[in-house]
Amino acid sequence: MPTIFWLSKSSSALSTLRFAAGELQRYINRMNGEALARIVERPQYQPAEPGLWLGLFTDVGLTPQSTHPLDDEIHIAIAGDHGLIAGSNPRSVLMAVYRYLWALGCRWLRPGAEGELIPRAGPAAMDIHIHEIPAYRHRAVCIEGAVSLENVLDMVDWLPKLGMSGYFMQFREGFTFFDRWYRHQNNPLKTPQAFGVEQAREFTRQIEEELQKRGLVYHAIGHGWTCEAFGVPCLGWDQEPGRPWPPEFLRVVAEVNGKRSVPWDIASIAALCYSDPAVQEKLACCVEEYAAAHPQIDLLHVWLDDGFNNKCECPNCRTHLPADDYIQILNAIDDRLTRRGLPHKIVFLAYVDMLWPPETERLQNPSRFVFMFAPISRTYRQPMKASALHSSERALVPFERNHLKFPSDIDGLLSFLQAWQATFQGDSFVYDYHLISSGLYQQDPGLMNLARLLSEDVQSLKNLGLNGMVSCQLQRVFFPTGLGMYAMARTLWDDSLAFDALAQEYFTGAFGTDGMRCQAYLLKLAGLLDFGWLGNKEIAIPEDVAARCRSAMKGITRFMPVIQQHMCNQDICHTRSWQYLYLHAQVTRLLVKILLAKTKGQAKQVQRNWQTLKKLVCMHEDDLQPVLDVWAFVSAYEKMIESSHETT
Ligand SMILES: [Zn+2]
Repeated sequence: MPTIFWLSKSSSALSTLRFAAGELQRYINRMNGEALARIVERPQYQPAEPGLWLGLFTDVGLTPQSTHPLDDEIHIAIAGDHGLIAGSNPRSVLMAVYRYLWALGCRWLRPGAEGELIPRAGPAAMDIHIHEIPAYRHRAVCIEGAVSLENVLDMVDWLPKLGMSGYFMQFREGFTFFDRWYRHQNNPLKTPQAFGVEQAREFTRQIEEELQKRGLVYHAIGHGWTCEAFGVPCLGWDQEPGRPWPPEFLRVVAEVNGKRSVPWDIASIAALCYSDPAVQEKLACCVEEYAAAHPQIDLLHVWLDDGFNNKCECPNCRTHLPADDYIQILNAIDDRLTRRGLPHKIVFLAYVDMLWPPETERLQNPSRFVFMFAPISRTYRQPMKASALHSSERALVPFERNHLKFPSDIDGLLSFLQAWQATFQGDSFVYDYHLISSGLYQQDPGLMNLARLLSEDVQSLKNLGLNGMVSCQLQRVFFPTGLGMYAMARTLWDDSLAFDALAQEYFTGAFGTDGMRCQAYLLKLAGLLDFGWLGNKEIAIPEDVAARCRSAMKGITRFMPVIQQHMCNQDICHTRSWQYLYLHAQVTRLLVKILLAKTKGQAKQVQRNWQTLKKLVCMHEDDLQPVLDVWAFVSAYEKMIESSHETT
């Protein structure tokens, strides 16, 4: 049984290295079925002493290729149960531990203890030599949807196991995401729990601790500065009708149609008079104070309001693009952070009205900033790469204040990306939305096409000049499988991985025996069913939709005995995978009934089936909690069913 030595030479790495050693011990003991692995702390590397040595490159005589604090690199050189597991920074050491365990056969198919597959054989007699640098620098997930604290902690724990390096807490304390879960919005069968801002703050502190323990990159905030700077706490996107807005806020909100008011009583979507020097100053000061009080944040996202076609029409603002004001604000922030000696990187974004890049202003200190391209209006039925017809010189549609149309086609969006890239050549990543409403639900039932698209999109990022992805996503996206997130994470680490090989790896890991039959079943459903037209009038209803629906129903019935046969498996990971698939079959049957009734114009039948489906997911919410965001599922399908084609 190997001794695990961890090097306590670099004081900044202590807690993560100690944690990495603990993880290695825990999994080795589980594999061996006995708690025999010992952990020993050592100040110096002594390669001759038998054991598994854990340390930073600099403490074991290795030189990393990059010294950028966000870049990872791992080195594993093990013969039998002796050798070195090293990383270029503390986070990389932890990832190297998981990578070593991966080579021994450990698999993490979903967040949480029930999503892992640990082989029952120890590390003896295996030689493992791995030296890897991830394909992309930015590999992170952003909080969205409805979440319990445990959902987030499980996600944070899972990320480095898949080679992901960061987590993004939106808003100051992520209140709205927790609030949706604890109040059980969209599930009338559960009793709402009281939830307050102080509790969200406490949760955020716990999440930060878990991030720090793993050395993960911490992204924070995003929207909200535009209200917080003027005395309005920004908790999310809820309407607050009748709220008396502070006069200092009302004075500076954007003038639209000759009036300054808070649109729909939602503070986070209210634009400000961004050309007003006092507004710029106030925003910059707010960011400075927050950064000074939060040294634990690595990437501080400074986004403006979350609205669109809402920008100020006052005589000053009208003379130039909102992006020019944005750049002035960012420069003012940089000045303040520099004067104060604050190291935070500031993330700025191209998004809706801000897709039009600045005409005159430029960032004075580009190394302070990271550019984020957020193509929220994009289609998820076409990969994110330029078509043969796309020309990088294509002129942008002129900016027409408050009458903008945002493209959904990829070529159109890439023109904006290229226009921004002409103004800023620094660090950058894409912020994408595959695993949230518009990406997630308008797909085939098993999300097989979406998983393939995700893998393809990640592979294209290099060509687009983007160094990674932050996925703006529901945290519970594992119903019926987690292939999408798995493919995204694995491909961000190694962009040469072929999707088909990843899918095989995933299905075999998650479902065990008959995993490949399960893949074939979901692929068959994907060939027959597509919920795209349900929520999008631009997508035509297939002519043979009824025949397709009938074939899908038959396919589900035919596969049901296989599902049932595996629902009580020896391994909890496999058991859960098949149980989820069983519930998914029931959900899919009801969705098919809704599709059929829609095509026949049977509105009452549509409603009846939708009510039955809602009840089904709500009744089973405790079983589905780790894998399906019922709040998001109900919100999305309700909207899709209401807005889809009127058929007769
Ligand atoms: Zn203005």
